[in-house]
Amino acid sequence: MSFDSLGLSPALLSAVHNKGYETPSPIQAQAIPAILKGRDVLAAAQTGTGKTAGFTLPLLQLLSERPSPAKGRKPVRALIMTPTRELAAQVEESVKTYGAQSSLRSAVVFGGVNINPQMNRLRTGVDILVATPGRLLDLHSQSAVNLSQVEILVLDEADRMLDMGFIHDIRKILKLLPERRQNLLFSATFSSEIRTFTKNILHNPVSIDVAPRNTTAETVMQQAYRMEKSGKPALLKHLIHTGRWEQVLVFTRTKHGADRLSKKLNAFKITAAAIHGNKSQNARTRALAEFKAGETRVLVATDIAARGLDIKQLPHVVNFELPNVPEDYVHRIGRTGRAGATGHAVSLVGDEEMKYLRGIERLLKQKMVMASLPDDFEMPVAQPAHGGGGQGSSGSAQQAKRRPHKKPRHAAGERTQKQKPATPAAESRKEGQDSRPKRRSRRRPSRNRNPDSTGDRG
Ligand code: AMP
Repeated sequence: MSFDSLGLSPALLSAVHNKGYETPSPIQAQAIPAILKGRDVLAAAQTGTGKTAGFTLPLLQLLSERPSPAKGRKPVRALIMTPTRELAAQVEESVKTYGAQSSLRSAVVFGGVNINPQMNRLRTGVDILVATPGRLLDLHSQSAVNLSQVEILVLDEADRMLDMGFIHDIRKILKLLPERRQNLLFSATFSSEIRTFTKNILHNPVSIDVAPRNTTAETVMQQAYRMEKSGKPALLKHLIHTGRWEQVLVFTRTKHGADRLSKKLNAFKITAAAIHGNKSQNARTRALAEFKAGETRVLVATDIAARGLDIKQLPHVVNFELPNVPEDYVHRIGRTGRAGATGHAVSLVGDEEMKYLRGIERLLKQKMVMASLPDDFEMPVAQPAHGGGGQGSSGSAQQAKRRPHKKPRHAAGERTQKQKPATPAAESRKEGQDSRPKRRSRRRPSRNRNPDSTGDRG
């Protein structure tokens, strides 16, 4: 199949050609014609399969073909919502790239940055708006955006959007949209509860399920090392050095864990930066740009990064800690092996994480390949509290030694699996994004997620 047969305009075909795409991916082959026919779509596709182009290309075509209804300021005619700021920025980049030859105007709005430039941009008139939910509601409450003429709504990463307490914001936003509109829901994973919710949004949708649900990209080679927690930094260093890994995305469960590991790697003379919800948006953008440009060898991220990142040919993903929500594993390792490229995912699994590994295996319906520790790797020996440093004397090993029987202490923003989960509102406040009044503490997440796996409300 070629792009020519999908019904796209010459301008869009040339944009696709300029991107170097030769054939439509399975999700594109099915979604593009359905969207062009004006149908609602519920699409489940493996992460990294080209779903952004799958909705952006037909959306641009439909809007270009229809005249803008209002005189004066352009109304928002397509609204694309994403769970994270990075994903929002990335999607808008795609809109700009594919729509370079059209006169349609786009903008992206998300929290964590000054709202005024976004208000100014909206004032000039925007056809396609990409937004995270909290900032969008903020802008609406300040009368900076009118959503009453939206013709096409896209919920990207819909499972996360709905699953993580965004559901209340989404409901509010839906009320601001006209009843008659086209709805497109894209997601890598679809739980049955989400399918139930989407029934209320979608009208007679075309369901597209190009890959078995909740599977990981077949091109990703996955392996796991079972090991003591204290040896993880040293093993990571060993794997990076011996494997000559030049670009590695490493996931930790907590923001503090990400900071600690990034410092440790830098001390090992491996350039690393951390990206998570406590970082300012500018720091997040910079860390990502430097990693993409190859200036930083390791990016240590919490799950917030699992959703937004499309890094060309990212070769290695490491789960320094396994996520406690199995679906997050799929999203994490989906950062490598994108669009048919081969990828490599390694998980470092402590004894206490074996239950998470089992959960992941159940979800994927496949056993993880357990690798033995490399022959030339020496497991660091925990140093006595007052002992010397020495290679491999990791901080966590020392801490474990110092507080052998105590429960681990958790810094602000971290919690254990057993602790009551923070509300998404509390989490989003921690993410420190926007100026909205703190009035959402009633909400409870539908699942006990990792604290930093939440997206960006604002
Ligand atoms: P997405 O799943 O939308 O995040 O896309 C994943 C990656 O696939 C992006 O880097 C896209 O540029 C790329 N991509 C999308 N469509 C195609 C295609 N038809 N052929 C090759 N690469 C593609």
